[in-house]
Amino acid sequence: MVHRFAVLCSASFHSLSEQRSWFETGGYQRMANHKPEMKPSRQTGFATRAIHDGQEPDPVTGAVVPPIYATSTYVQEELGKHKGYEYARVSNPTRDRLEKNLASLEGGIASRVFSSGMAAINAICAMFRSGDHVVSGHNLYGGVPRLFDQVLAGYGFEFTYVDTSEPGQVDQSIRHNTRMVYVETPTNPLMALSDIAAISAICRARNVELVVDNTFLSPYLQQPIALGASLVVHSTTKFLNGHSDGLGGAVVCTRQEQAEQLSFVQKAAGAILSPFECWLVLRGTKTLAVRMQQHEHNGRIVADFLASHKKVKKVFYPGLKDHPQHELAKRQMTGFGSMITFETGSLENAARLLKRVRVCSLAESLGGVETLISHPATMTHAALGERGREAIGITDGMVRISVGIETVEDIVADLDQALQ
Ligand code: PLP
Repeated sequence: MVHRFAVLCSASFHSLSEQRSWFETGGYQRMANHKPEMKPSRQTGFATRAIHDGQEPDPVTGAVVPPIYATSTYVQEELGKHKGYEYARVSNPTRDRLEKNLASLEGGIASRVFSSGMAAINAICAMFRSGDHVVSGHNLYGGVPRLFDQVLAGYGFEFTYVDTSEPGQVDQSIRHNTRMVYVETPTNPLMALSDIAAISAICRARNVELVVDNTFLSPYLQQPIALGASLVVHSTTKFLNGHSDGLGGAVVCTRQEQAEQLSFVQKAAGAILSPFECWLVLRGTKTLAVRMQQHEHNGRIVADFLASHKKVKKVFYPGLKDHPQHELAKRQMTGFGSMITFETGSLENAARLLKRVRVCSLAESLGGVETLISHPATMTHAALGERGREAIGITDGMVRISVGIETVEDIVADLDQALQ
């Protein structure tokens, strides 16, 4: 990797036009090639890639933080002669940077970003055809089965829901027309895990795409592509952006043809991520490693506190030894994250707790620096209906917490007073 800003600083210019022409005639590349600061044979660390890949200084001005290209169109010199950009639904330099950054963090060959996590999941499905079959986890963020059953089923897609924490159930459900296995791990909100390597072996043998939603852990704590997934999906709204100030989604690809198909979906269907929100996610990923370390630290302390509290009936957190897949968590994740669900025993208990919290904010969503606390049955998973929730074990007494990076003693004290 080359430190482009250092290269830029060492070149001297008399005018902006001289600087531009130096870039355009390959001066930058020539100098960059002479100053490799890291050995190309060595893959740089996660935090280094988060800060530098796709985040190179602006080649025209040297701005360390590249500008947001707030433009809908690009001037062309003459018919068919342009700088690679024509119209912002098709491509935008800020978006290109984010797509490069996320591909690097997940270990993919490319990524494509969309206007929300749901738009990203919908874009994956747009790669398939009427009559195609999907095997999906039965325990997912509620918006996903809503998209599958209430929108896509109407276009002739078929869905089978199974417990993906049992890889055998996935194997048995694959049919001749199955194109995709869709897995969320850990699941929202029950924190159940699926064995990505085992499911990927099944999918490879049957020539089916394995899509993993990595939103709950981020690539800092789990790398599904290294475990065999063929596509990774994210709601960038959560940990990747990390500041609860922008909605977005991403799909990370492992093959060129997937990237091309998804570029076509961006252009044809148009649910792309705006340049401003791309820039927000680029800013967010720069601190992803340190944020995730703190989320993880706080998450473990809050989970231990809840597990030892007499008013809490059960805690769902893969870092606890009594989690049924604690061993799998240690094998496939590099940390347990900061998403915790716990059972208060009744709707009344949950409502009382949620009314009393002061440091934790009662709100949907997760993955921000602030602690967010929510009630799956009436919020994120209301769309499943009572029977749908019952079928997968979501109760009215369950509370989900996305532990933020505030001083952890304050989060614990807040929960303690709210549980009294
Ligand atoms: N995947 C998971 C695990 C989620 O929790 C969510 C939303 O909460 C989504 C996908 C959808 O993302 P978005 O709200 O950005 O559309």
